Amino acid sequence: MHCPFCGTHDTKVTDSRLVAEGDQVRRRRQCVSCAERFTTYETAELVMPRVIKGDGSREAFDVIKLRAGMLRALEKRPVSAEAIEAAVERIRQTLRARGDREIHARDIGEEVMHALKRLDQVAYIRFASVYRSFQDIDEFRAEIDRLAQEPSFQPDDPKR
Ligand SMILES: [Zn+2]
Repeated sequence: MHCPFCGTHDTKVTDSRLVAEGDQVRRRRQCVSCAERFTTYETAELVMPRVIKGDGSREAFDVIKLRAGMLRALEKRPVSAEAIEAAVERIRQTLRARGDREIHARDIGEEVMHALKRLDQVAYIRFASVYRSFQDIDEFRAEIDRLAQEPSFQPDDPKR
C-alpha cells in the first residue's frame, strides 16, 4: 500500500488486529521511507448482486422481501424463527458466492424453494404452487408425487 504522506510504494504493517467484533481488521502501518504512521481498515465487501426481474428491469436485492416471501409460505408451520433466519442467511451467502453482479429473480426463487424443501414440505408446496404457478390440480399432484419420490426430502433438524 502506498504511503499517503510521501507516496512511497512500500509501507510495512506494524500491528494487525480484529475490531468491530471481528468484522474488521485494523492495521497500523508505517512508511519505510518517511516513517509516518497511518491506519487502514479492512472489511469484507458484501455486495449482493442486483436482481433482474421477469420484465428485464433491475432492482436492488431486498432481503426483507425474500424473508417476507418465505414467511408467507411458512405461516402457521412448525418452523422456528431461528431456522428461518439461518435459511435466509444461507440463501444470501449462496447468491453472493456466485460472484455475479446480476442475478435472475427466478434463480432466487429456485434457491428459496430449495431452502423451503428442507424446512417444511407444506411451505415448499405453498411456495412452489405460487411460484411455478401450477395450471391445474394435475400439475400440483404431479409435483407432490415427485416430491414423495425424493429420498433427500427429509427435514433438516428433528429438534425444531
Ligand atoms: Zn511515506
